[in-house]
Amino acid sequence: MVKVDIKYTKLFINNEFVDAVSKKTFSTINPQDETVITQVAEGDKADVDLAVEAAKKAFHRYSEWRTMDASQRGVLMLKLADLMESQAKYLAELETLDCGKPVKVSEEEVFYSTGVLRFYAGKADKILGSTIPADGEVLAMTLKEPVGVCAQIIPWNYPILMMTWKIAPALAAGCTIIVKPAEQTPLTALAVAALIKEAGFPPGVVNVIPGYGPTAGAALTHHPGVDKVAFTGSTEVGRLILKAASAENLKRVTLELGGKSPLVVFNDADVEKAAQLAHFAAFANGGQCCCAGTRTYVQSGVYDQFVKRAAEIAQQRTVGNPYDDVEQGPQIDSEMFNKVLGYIKAGKAEGARCVTGGDKIGDKGYYIQPTVFADVTDNMKIAREEIFGPVQSILKFETFDEVVDRANDTNYGLGAGVVTNDINIAMSFAKHVRAGSVWINVYDHVTGQTPFGGFKDSGMGRELGEDGVNQYLEVKTVTMALPKKPQF
Ligand code: NAP
Ligand code: MG
Repeated sequence: MVKVDIKYTKLFINNEFVDAVSKKTFSTINPQDETVITQVAEGDKADVDLAVEAAKKAFHRYSEWRTMDASQRGVLMLKLADLMESQAKYLAELETLDCGKPVKVSEEEVFYSTGVLRFYAGKADKILGSTIPADGEVLAMTLKEPVGVCAQIIPWNYPILMMTWKIAPALAAGCTIIVKPAEQTPLTALAVAALIKEAGFPPGVVNVIPGYGPTAGAALTHHPGVDKVAFTGSTEVGRLILKAASAENLKRVTLELGGKSPLVVFNDADVEKAAQLAHFAAFANGGQCCCAGTRTYVQSGVYDQFVKRAAEIAQQRTVGNPYDDVEQGPQIDSEMFNKVLGYIKAGKAEGARCVTGGDKIGDKGYYIQPTVFADVTDNMKIAREEIFGPVQSILKFETFDEVVDRANDTNYGLGAGVVTNDINIAMSFAKHVRAGSVWINVYDHVTGQTPFGGFKDSGMGRELGEDGVNQYLEVKTVTMALPKKPQF
């Protein structure tokens, strides 16, 4: 077992690490062997009150943060990115300890995160309003102003990366922040908090409150001092957040929720490449990915050949100790482990053909075999519900219109993929599928520059890109009297 030094386990408020007001702590668990890694301070309403107070103070009109040049905000963000990269190995080992993803993937995600930070660092002094030829004897303009105090509630599947997706645009916009990491993965958020302080961000600009969703999370989403909530997680909790956000005041809300994304392979595709891409789409991060392409639709002409290759590739997937050179570690926790195994059981019971996998691995840790089901039909549970585990469902189709209808027959609309060399098919699919991201001959290619988010029950608002920063800005219209013919 790799020994990782755990330096921070307390709440981070006003640039200081502090105990919870209640002095309570909770255990964070190692998914490799189900042991307790350490105790972490458990934030609740009283701590949220302190963090919101700190964030409000940091947002005061004459505060250091609000009076700082926008370009300087960018400089601090660049510094944070440099610090994260200088500690990439450590952050990756800590991430893997807490969430079980392969350590090389954790390290790649640190670098991916710094890319997002740098994109938004460059954006900080390029947030532009407009001048408007308004009717009348006036000059009108828009100012883009930070929304204010933002609560950012993060899931466990990409802890550092999701935190960066959220803090980067908010910092570029000039907001102040309270992050609540997932209860399963609080450690790297606190390690990043220490680097935020070291980079020179003023106290209160970023605060981190580990704790549980129904307590710390709910206190944030209800708090009248919070102006905006950004959330990534389940659709079920997304609904709760939307309600809570309108209870005390009318918070701005961005939701990035689940999905059941289709990946469609047409007859003309190179079957080997398609099978590899579909494997990546379904199994990346052990399937614990909101935009996982878990409904693999394959046209009848290449169906049998595709199923055979999909099974072989899944069989070769290496699963084991995430500190070794493997492609997949354990699932996040016992709840998700049992939930995924339950879906596998349902797939078998409903008559899908399990062509590989279908069981857990070993007796310790939350390891599951990469599992491929063929001959899946649209009404089966494994074709309708988000599994969030290493399970691929393959469905057969005949025609373009049929598959577009079936791909869209879901309440979700996060991602969609198409594999074809026919540009008409590719672009027609992109036009007609109802999803926030469409990938053609590539999958889950998301960068700092590309907006990401969902149609329908997959969420509202967008993260990343120009659209991402707009979610942290209010538009203020300023109209000034200006006679058309001045009298001096
Ligand atoms: P979740 O409950 O939606 O958790 C996401 C975040 O929301 C966590 O920080 C969680 O805190 C917090 N939260 C929970 N209840 C809350 C409340 N009432 N008010 C405010 N915040 C609250 O997700 P989960 O339970 O970890 O996973 C369940 C399912 O969600 C998965 O099976 C998967 O389908 C989906 N999921 C989607 C994504 C995604 O990327 N879209 C990520 C993770 C999970 P706690 O940590 O204390 O629960
Ligand atoms: Mg939860």
